[in-house]
Amino acid sequence: MSLIVQKYGGTSVGSIERIEAVAEKVAACRALGDDIVVVVSAMSGETNRLLGLADAITDTPTPREIDVLVSTGEQVTIALLSMALNKRGCAARSYTGAQVKILTDDSHTKARIEEINVEGMQADLQQGRVLVVAGFQGVDSAGNITTLGRGGSDTSAVALAAALAADECQIYTDVDGVYTTDPRVVEGARRLKQITFEEMLEMSSQGSKVLQIRAVEFAGKYKVPLRVLSSFEDGPGTLITLEDDDSMENPIISGIAFNRDEAKLTIQGIPDTPGVASRILAPIGEANIEVDVIIQNVSEDGTTSLTFTVHRNDLNRARGLLESIAMELNARSVVTDDQIAKVSLVGVGMRSHAGVASRMFTALAEHNINIQMITTSEIKIAVVIDEKYLELAVRALHSAFELEKDAN
Ligand code: ADP
Ligand code: ASP
Ligand code: MG
Repeated sequence: MSLIVQKYGGTSVGSIERIEAVAEKVAACRALGDDIVVVVSAMSGETNRLLGLADAITDTPTPREIDVLVSTGEQVTIALLSMALNKRGCAARSYTGAQVKILTDDSHTKARIEEINVEGMQADLQQGRVLVVAGFQGVDSAGNITTLGRGGSDTSAVALAAALAADECQIYTDVDGVYTTDPRVVEGARRLKQITFEEMLEMSSQGSKVLQIRAVEFAGKYKVPLRVLSSFEDGPGTLITLEDDDSMENPIISGIAFNRDEAKLTIQGIPDTPGVASRILAPIGEANIEVDVIIQNVSEDGTTSLTFTVHRNDLNRARGLLESIAMELNARSVVTDDQIAKVSLVGVGMRSHAGVASRMFTALAEHNINIQMITTSEIKIAVVIDEKYLELAVRALHSAFELEKDAN
């Protein structure tokens, strides 16, 4: 008998019919004898709807109240799914994050899980009940409701699987696995039978929202076997493998991730002297604004320019800070652009193959797509381009690296 944690995302519990279908699936697994903990998201669109309500009241809601508000979405689905299971004779009980005691830090809207109290859950499991736990939410040490960031139910599921030492964590969603790229953008995208944990981490961090990055981090840290599957049809899905067993057999590129979440800032005409980059970026860091890609140009006439990207939501704050730094440094100007996108090629095979970057740049050039910034890691090459060419770029790269062919 195994202990399985199953997570169902928003579309998978998006209507009463869908909730009934999930109940059917869970009850069937339970009937086979496995112990099951189910984690659910809010019905699709609900979290956005709730955020819209807050927005209609104020531009500056406190993060504490946002968390009280958005956590209600998951409270609805745990109750409905538990009713649907009980109706089928499958004993089930719903639990909020606070009831399970998913203890987090107090960073509202982006809290991190610190500890999970499994005693109560184990007692329920011993009595043969299915546990239905609200994803995305926890509680801080003072008893305030917290949430884990958008897409956070994935992280709840993996963290619960780790705490319970589950045999597998299954993420059921509206696609039947992890694809070479978002199948909604490239029709010929191919499902991967498996992907290494390291690659999945890069894919998630570069924008593939099929798994929240923290869920992947948890799976790696606690060695949780993780699989992405469809809640609509049966199939093997994609296994996130913890070991890179035979690097010779790895494809050079496993996938392409992209995001439209960033904006670019450039400060021009700054002195080309030691300490300037730190004077520019330190106040940005102190304001808790994450900087992603950074480039500094070669100096011309003793001055240079520095360009970096931040999350689009942070653009206005970053621009304000940069404008005052520009005054202090007597810089020529500050220019910003929020119409950018980042496309990343990810693959552990890159380590042992030369020429990936040039192949990537050639493919983009053939489609007349200008590269604004480039950044690399051992297993990733990412470029910043004009947002309007994003889909074209993803398709061009998918075909240039022959990702539709069966190599996995
Ligand atoms: P859920 O509500 O189940 O958590 P999400 O919308 O968060 O689902 O994630 C699933 C979506 O992720 C898919 O519908 C797909 O459009 C998108 N996606 C992005 N990149 C990929 C990829 N490489 N493979 C599969 N899906 C991807
Ligand atoms: N309901 C939350 C969201 O929409 C969490 C999740 O779906 O994982 O972001
Ligand atoms: Mg999700």
